[in-house]
Amino acid sequence: MDVIVGGGIVGLSIAWRLARSGRPVTVVDPAPASGASYAAAGMLAPVSEVTYTETPLLRLGMASLRRWPSFAAELAEDAGLTGNAGLTRNSGPTGDAEPTGDAGSPHGGLGAIGDGARLGLDLRADGTLDVAFGADDLATLDELATYMEKLGLPVERLTGRECRRLEPMLAPSVRGGLLAPEDAWVDPRRVTAALLAALDRLHVPLVRARAAGLLRDRDGSVAGGSVAGDRVVGGRVVGVRLEPPPGGPEPPSEIRAERVVLAAGAWSGELAEVPVRPIKGQIMRLRSPQPLLSRCVRGTVHGSYVYLVPRGDGELVVGATQEELGFDTRVTAGGLYELLRDARELVPGVTELEVADVVAGLRPGTPDNVPIIGPSGTPGLDLATGHYRGGVLLAPLTAALMVGDLGGEEGELAALCSPGRFQEIS
Ligand code: FAD
Repeated sequence: MDVIVGGGIVGLSIAWRLARSGRPVTVVDPAPASGASYAAAGMLAPVSEVTYTETPLLRLGMASLRRWPSFAAELAEDAGLTGNAGLTRNSGPTGDAEPTGDAGSPHGGLGAIGDGARLGLDLRADGTLDVAFGADDLATLDELATYMEKLGLPVERLTGRECRRLEPMLAPSVRGGLLAPEDAWVDPRRVTAALLAALDRLHVPLVRARAAGLLRDRDGSVAGGSVAGDRVVGGRVVGVRLEPPPGGPEPPSEIRAERVVLAAGAWSGELAEVPVRPIKGQIMRLRSPQPLLSRCVRGTVHGSYVYLVPRGDGELVVGATQEELGFDTRVTAGGLYELLRDARELVPGVTELEVADVVAGLRPGTPDNVPIIGPSGTPGLDLATGHYRGGVLLAPLTAALMVGDLGGEEGELAALCSPGRFQEIS
C-alpha cells in the first residue's frame, strides 16, 4: 500500500491516479485542500509564465498542460460531477463559452476536447493576455516576446487598441500586450473538491491527522542511516507516525506502507531533508454580477506584477504577492493594497466589485523553482513536492510520474525534476 502525506492538489491527484490504476492507497492530512491549493488562482500558463532561466519548467508545464483535458474529463467522471468538465473556449471578448472542436494544437498546447459547459472544474482555454502599462513595462514585454518567439512559443504581439478589442474593460492607458492563445486556467477549489469526491467514490481512506514523523524499518530502528529528530536522513521508510488533531476523532497511531509519498507542500521539510521553503502569496476574490474579463489578464504596472483570472460564475481572482516570510499566512493591508492598486490601473472596473474572499497561501519553493518528484534515495520514500507557483498546472504530470504512466519523450521529463539533483536528498 502507498501512503500519501499531504492532501493538496498534488497529493490528491497522485492518490486518485494510483487508486484508478488499482493500487491500494491512503491519504493522510489534518486539513485536506486547505494549503496553497486553496489559495491558488489556477492559471495553466506555461507560455506566459516563461522566464529567461526556467526552460526546464517550461517543458514540464507544456507536457502537463497537454494532459489537463483528459485529466479533467476523467476526474469529472470519477467525481460524478453533473456539470461537464470539458474544455471551453470563448466565442469573443465578452462572449459565452462554447464547445471547441477536436483539432490538436500545432504547438503542442491544450488542443481541444470536451463538449461545452463552463461548470464542472471551470477549465477554460481562452489564452492569457499579458499587458504593459508604462513604457518601461512595454519594453520589458517586447524583450520577453522576442525570447518567446526564439523558443518557438505560440504568442502574438498586440497593440494597446488590439488588447482593448479583446478585453474592452482594459484601461485606455494599456500600451500593448502579448497574447498566449493556448494558455488555460481552471478553478483549483473545484478540482480539489472533485478529487476528494473521486477518492471517496473509489473508497480511498482519508485519515484526518498530521503525520508527525516517518517510520523507519520494521522495528523502528534505523538501518544504514541517521535520523535528525523526526526527519529521515537514511534508513528505510516503512510508514508514518500520526498525531491526532486536537479534539478530533482518534486516528490510528501509525500507518505501515510499502511506499510513503511526501506531498506536504511547503511543510515537506518538517518530515524529510528536502530543500523546500514557503513563499507567501496573498490573493483576493472579487464578485461581479457580469464577467469583467473573458480571459486571464496579467500585467506589469511600473515593474509591479499582477494578474486577474475570471471564473465562469463571475468571480474575478486578483493575485498575487510573492513574499519570503517563512510560515506567515497573515493577510496584510499592504499586500491587498498593492494588488488592488495595480489591478485598478489595468482594469479600472475592479474597484466596483464586492470582495468575496482574501487569503494567503504558502507556495512550496525550491532552489531552482523546479519541483522535486521521484524516489528520494531513502528506500520506501518518494517525493512529490516543491511545485512553487505551478502546482496546479503540474498536477497531472506529477501524478503520471508517480504512477509511472509516462512514455517516450515524456519519460525524459522525470530527470528534470529528479530529487537526485540536490545533494542533501540523494
Ligand atoms: P498544498 O496545497 O499546500 O498542500 C499541502 C498539504 O499538506 C496541505 O493540505 C497540508 O495540510 C498538508 N500537510 C502539511 N504537513 C502535513 C503533515 N505533517 N502531515 C499530513 N499532511 C500535511 N499554481 C498554478 O499552477 N497556477 C496558479 O495560478 C497558481 N496560483 C497561486 C497563487 C497563490 C496565491 C499561491 C499561494 C499559489 C499558487 N500556485 C499556483 C501554486 C500552487 O498553489 C502550489 O504549487 C500547489 O498548490 C502545491 O500543491 P501541494 O499539494 O504540493 O501543496
